[in-house]
Amino acid sequence: MGIQKTRAVILSMLPYRESSAIVTLYTNEYGRVNGIAKGVRKRSKNSLPLERGFLIDLILYIKQGRDLHTLADINICDYYPEIRGDLYKTAIRDAAFELLLKSVMASEPHPELFSLLQQFLISLQSTDATENFALLWKFYLKTAGFLGFAVRLDSCRCCGREILISEGGFLAVENGCLYCSKCGVKRSLPETYIQGTVLQKLNGSLSPLKLPSDELIRLTRLAVSYCSFHMDIRPEFKSLKFIEQISR
Ligand SMILES: [Zn+2]
Repeated sequence: MGIQKTRAVILSMLPYRESSAIVTLYTNEYGRVNGIAKGVRKRSKNSLPLERGFLIDLILYIKQGRDLHTLADINICDYYPEIRGDLYKTAIRDAAFELLLKSVMASEPHPELFSLLQQFLISLQSTDATENFALLWKFYLKTAGFLGFAVRLDSCRCCGREILISEGGFLAVENGCLYCSKCGVKRSLPETYIQGTVLQKLNGSLSPLKLPSDELIRLTRLAVSYCSFHMDIRPEFKSLKFIEQISR
C-alpha cells in the first residue's frame, strides 16, 4: 500500500452508504483513479460539499491490485463558481468529462491530459458563452491527439492539395485527416463539413464564432463520432443529448 499526495479533478461522484461517496478522479500522477471518500457528504458549516467538477488536493491510499482506493484529507483548491452556476457551461464540462470517463482506463498516467483538463476548466470558467463549444471541440481533438489520434489538417486526403484553412474542409473520420472543400463536396458528406471559421478557431483564432445552435450541435456530434471511432467507444454520449435539449 502506498500513500501519495496528489491533485485531481472530480469526474464523477456516487453516494455511498450514509455519508460517503465513490469518486472517480482524474489525477496528475496516476491518471484516472476510483476511490472511496468517507464522510464527505456530511454537511458542515464552513465547507462546501464536494461535487463533480471540483479541483482538489488529497491523500491517496493506493491498494495494489484493487480498483477502489481510499481518498483522505481532501482540500478544495477551486470549485469554478462560474461553471457551477451556469447550466450551459456545466453541460459542456460534463461532455468533456464523459470523454475521459469513456476512454481512459484506470491508472494510466497522462500528465499532459491532466494539464489539458485543468486548462479547459480555467478557460470554460472565464470565457464568453459563444466560446463554450469551441473549447469542447478543442478538448476532444487534443485528447484524441494525446492518445495517438491527432487530426492532420495539412493536405487533402483525396487530391493532396494543401488545405486552405479559410475555405474549410470535410473531416475524413476514419482516416484522421481532411478532404478539401472541392473533394468533400464531390463525396457529398455534408455532415462532416467544418467551416473555415471553425478551422481557424481550432487553430487558435480569437474572433468569435457566429453559428446557429444546430450547427454547433452538428459539429459537436462530429467531434464525438471522431473520438468514438478512434478510441473504440460504443455507448452514446448522454451529455450530448442533454446539450441538445437545452440548446433547442
Ligand atoms: Zn482535395
